[in-house]
Amino acid sequence: MKLKIKRFMFTTHLLLESSSTVAMNSLAAEKKARGERVYNLSAGEPELPAHPAVAAAAMKAIYAGKTLYPPVAGIPELRAAAADWMNKTYNTAYEIKNTLVTCGGKFGIFSIIQAFVKPSEEVIIISPYWVSYPAIVRLFGANPVFVNTTEQDGWKINLEKLKSAITPETKMLIINNGSNPTGVLYSRAEMQEILRLAADHNLIVLSDEVYSGLTYDSDYISAAAFLEFQDRVIVVQSCSKHFAMTGWRVGLIFGPESAIKILISIQSQSTTGTSSISQYAALSAIQNAGEIIPQVRITMQERRDVFINTFNQLFETELKKPAAGLYSFFPLSALGVVEKDSVDFCRRALSVGNVALVPGLAFGVEGYLRAAFGANQAELIASLQSLKK
Ligand code: GLU
Repeated sequence: MKLKIKRFMFTTHLLLESSSTVAMNSLAAEKKARGERVYNLSAGEPELPAHPAVAAAAMKAIYAGKTLYPPVAGIPELRAAAADWMNKTYNTAYEIKNTLVTCGGKFGIFSIIQAFVKPSEEVIIISPYWVSYPAIVRLFGANPVFVNTTEQDGWKINLEKLKSAITPETKMLIINNGSNPTGVLYSRAEMQEILRLAADHNLIVLSDEVYSGLTYDSDYISAAAFLEFQDRVIVVQSCSKHFAMTGWRVGLIFGPESAIKILISIQSQSTTGTSSISQYAALSAIQNAGEIIPQVRITMQERRDVFINTFNQLFETELKKPAAGLYSFFPLSALGVVEKDSVDFCRRALSVGNVALVPGLAFGVEGYLRAAFGANQAELIASLQSLKK
């Protein structure tokens, strides 16, 4: 007689949401793997090959046997070079003890929220926001509090609104200067006011600066440049966007030594650090930053211009060029459609037109879409033509 075995089904107590940007990118990749022609405007990545110096450094590390566990906080040469690069580029005052190498910027953000925000505390997020901020906050049992911005206000935060969102439970403010998805950049005066407000209310400031190298029309102001607020500011940086190194998974955190020590402990119990080979590649990237960053920036600026010009021509609109980043965030009405349901539209754009976009709803704003312009110019034009069809 056959014994009946009860099937087990896994469930989780975690408030889990999968990332919409990653999900759309995966759907596009699956379609492509089935042999379909896909126009992928979903995940933001500068689609460029590894710089020869970066590739050579990775190969050298492999052949030199630098393939065992690296130090948890990152190889000292990379930490020192990264701190030096931040200081010279953005007028900061970091040392090796203020610097941590992570498995990509996203894990940096993840571990900062895990380390410093308790369940039921509040984290202020400026909307539209990068999809993963609220998801990570919820994952750790804390509550995201959204402060909305509008296209009419240039997607910029209003200080009074920000102030009124602060409660006794507020622990952290996330700023994404060089915003994903809107491309908004904050000036020195605006950044100073935001930091002063945060200091007045004893908030930690998580400043996501991963697009600081992709600023097209003005200088970049880091939250870390205001030394009087340094005790509460943690900056997240990444090699992904600056050096077109998304697949290498190298992020950086800069902050007070006390914060870095805590984050190193988390890393010692989670990732044990990032790939040693990627770290040597990142070291070479930073050593060649003066050449690589302008190359990536100029290429992305050209792609931005081609994307926006082609869009405006095809759809007879006047979309503005974003000041920073890799994205255009525009209303569905710019495509000449009356519907507002961005999720449904993205589903149809992918199934009918083979164009992958990310719905505005995932960034907190219904009725909008995000298109990434990291692909080459011919691909961008072909994608927009397919969208038009
Ligand atoms: N940060 C990029 C984006 O928003 C990469 C994908 C992700 O990790 O979200 O498209």
